[in-house]
Amino acid sequence: MHNLFSMTCADLENWLRLSHGKGAFHAKALYHEVMGRGNRDFALHPAFEKSQKLALAVEGSLDVPEARIVETAGTDDSFKFVTALDDGLRIESVILTMESHETLCLSTQVGCRMGCAFCETGTMGLIRNLQPEEMVLQVMAARYQLQRPVRNVVYMGMGEPMDNLDAVLKAVEILSDQRGLNIPLRRQTLSTVGLVPGFKRLASMESMRPLHLSLSLNAASDDLRSELMPVNRAFPLALLKKTLAEYPLPSGGAILLAYVLIPGVNDSREDAMALADFAEGLPVRINLIPYNPGTCGRWPATEDKDIHRFGALLYEKGLFVRKRWSRGREVMAGCGQLGGRPEKDSKEKQEAT
Ligand code: SF4
Repeated sequence: MHNLFSMTCADLENWLRLSHGKGAFHAKALYHEVMGRGNRDFALHPAFEKSQKLALAVEGSLDVPEARIVETAGTDDSFKFVTALDDGLRIESVILTMESHETLCLSTQVGCRMGCAFCETGTMGLIRNLQPEEMVLQVMAARYQLQRPVRNVVYMGMGEPMDNLDAVLKAVEILSDQRGLNIPLRRQTLSTVGLVPGFKRLASMESMRPLHLSLSLNAASDDLRSELMPVNRAFPLALLKKTLAEYPLPSGGAILLAYVLIPGVNDSREDAMALADFAEGLPVRINLIPYNPGTCGRWPATEDKDIHRFGALLYEKGLFVRKRWSRGREVMAGCGQLGGRPEKDSKEKQEAT
């Protein structure tokens, strides 16, 4: 059984041609109906209405899954949903309500092996990579099952996207397909802890140029960053800076530097000055994010006044700073709070016993 969510419209066209002797006309109709309009019952589309035999044959060989949403929690500006996958593992996604639109923060792995000290997902270790269709499923669920007008996507949920780059790039391509979900690359942001080979690979792909990148920096001295983010030992700051400086951005483009502000850890004046030094000469914007303690947090939550204070120090150095206020904390949907419970869903548990 082929999964529609693993395909672009062109992939579907190839598959239809090979397996059912049909081509672009039926592919476009089916793809637009399901991926563009959220109607899983494509057999009623005029293109298939006249040939129910074909519709039945396609239905029998093409999986159009529906997300099994097993938990939701939300506030006015932040809504988390948990999806049970076919193997019973769970992933979490968050819809953030912005001023003019909604953004989906989606997961790319079950767990994560990067082990960042401030992150709940990191405590799980890596359980497995997600397939492209499992990333697309999160968008389909948000748009059509939960009826949320998701316009932007950030690969910033559970997992390190560059640690599963083949699958993530396929998902980027599928989400951007104009005949389907139509979320252009400029509305997709890939977040990374700074896996330099991933940057190099993206840099070599002309087609990925409009994709936004966000580097999760969180400290601008190697000692502190290695303590917070073990990956820094493999890819230290000098190498990261060189990589960012050489990255071929589109004209006027910038890379986001995400900085989770942890009280008493990386929020001093010296930390701000080190961050300003790192950013100097780079095409970057800084995104200040409050620390969310989660269930096993080592530090207290960041207060909005600390974000103001730290942001002001960066403004003084002429940096462009975007601040994210503490949202979603109450429902464990804040940054760094996803996951931490590598359990299978109860139905699977019962089946397994
Ligand atoms: S912050 Fe991101 S990369 Fe680091 S452990 Fe958490 S999910 Fe993994």
